[in-house]
Amino acid sequence: MKNKKLDTICVQGAYSPKSGEARVCPVVKSTTFYYEKAQPMADLFDLKSDGYFYSRIGNPTVNAFEEKLLMLDGGTGAIACASGMSATMLAVLNVCNAGDNIVSASAVYGGTYNLFSVTLKKYGIETRFFDPDDTAENIEKLIDEHTKVIFAETVANPTIVVLDFDKIAGIAKKHGILFMVDNTLVTPVLCKPKDFGANVVLYSSSKYLDGHAVALGGAIVDCGNFDFASSNRYPEFNTPDDSYHGLVYSTLGEKAFGTKCRVQMMRDLGAIMSPENAFLTNLGMETLALRMERHSYNASRVAEFLANHEKVEWVKYGSLESDPYHALAKKYMPGGQGGMLSFGVKGGSDAATVVMEGMKMIAIVTHVADVRSCVLHPASTTHRQLSKADLENIGIADNLIRLSVGIENVDDIIADLDGALSQI
Ligand SMILES: *Cc1c(COP(=O)(O)O)cnc(C)c1O
Repeated sequence: MKNKKLDTICVQGAYSPKSGEARVCPVVKSTTFYYEKAQPMADLFDLKSDGYFYSRIGNPTVNAFEEKLLMLDGGTGAIACASGMSATMLAVLNVCNAGDNIVSASAVYGGTYNLFSVTLKKYGIETRFFDPDDTAENIEKLIDEHTKVIFAETVANPTIVVLDFDKIAGIAKKHGILFMVDNTLVTPVLCKPKDFGANVVLYSSSKYLDGHAVALGGAIVDCGNFDFASSNRYPEFNTPDDSYHGLVYSTLGEKAFGTKCRVQMMRDLGAIMSPENAFLTNLGMETLALRMERHSYNASRVAEFLANHEKVEWVKYGSLESDPYHALAKKYMPGGQGGMLSFGVKGGSDAATVVMEGMKMIAIVTHVADVRSCVLHPASTTHRQLSKADLENIGIADNLIRLSVGIENVDDIIADLDGALSQI
């Protein structure tokens, strides 16, 4: 699979059977793995060889998913997780302890916002949010010697803010801080964050990677481009880990972050993806490149339709020339911006409800980024736990409808929207 194109990797990457073996990567439903002798197992524990011993640390089906994602994103290691949330949690805890802080864009997924602002805070990890449109100078003011992560989403869910990679990666690099990017809504098909300075890439594979709304999962990709050995900011990477017989992670060079995350974080927190979900996600990823192309095309057509509709107050989607993030979208996602957009109808929250209930094909569900078009009103559902002030902080208006444009025929999607809008 070396030197193959991205769409080929989606279909055939990371699994090549030997003669007589299953053509499709099978589900290996075994928690544990057999060894004839004791030494090979000891070598695995010592990281002297590669292999499986317990499915919390590694499993062949899960590994096939990890390796495929790694081929797509580039980097030195990928770790599959039970969900997108657990991926974010494990990645952050891999570098943050009590007393440390995260500097994060305020435009992030609601669950991530809660994790950062409420749950991690209870464990002594503080998050300082910045407005993604703010200047580098102002954002830098949030950084101190305890800042361990700078966090942002490539395209933010649900505000559709496009990440200014150069600005944020520049800050991270200048201060020697790990730059983590949640790339869920565009996938490596449309944007590879590593190419624009990210050090760690995160996914909720429950979205486009699976693509069919059947398997919860997440992933952490170590881009392998952060130099822990010459940094004073991450003493944990430069001192022996007593829980792993004195291993100093920075001595592993470009594999430091990913190895620590697997052998320490996954070992102790155990939020690994199940083999069944890895199987389904692998299956979904076979059509990922094709789907992202169609999602992007359909969404750009829908965005144009909405932008010209008299009942629509505003539309956010990167392909629109009127969109404030148009230039960034073109720069970082020239091949398309994915299927997620948001729009506001005239008439506030009540009108939003009328439109959503008026749709016949587009379903109201708490999910996005699968083959079926769907909508959600974040202010009354996914973001219900947030206060009015929080909602304003992260840019969610009360008339905002999050629309995940599927891969149905775009004329049918537009007709459904048109019918629903006419009911206001
Ligand atoms: C859904 C989502 C998550 C959380 O993923 P789960 O798999 O639902 O835990 C994180 N980030 C983004 C951008 C998401 O859309």
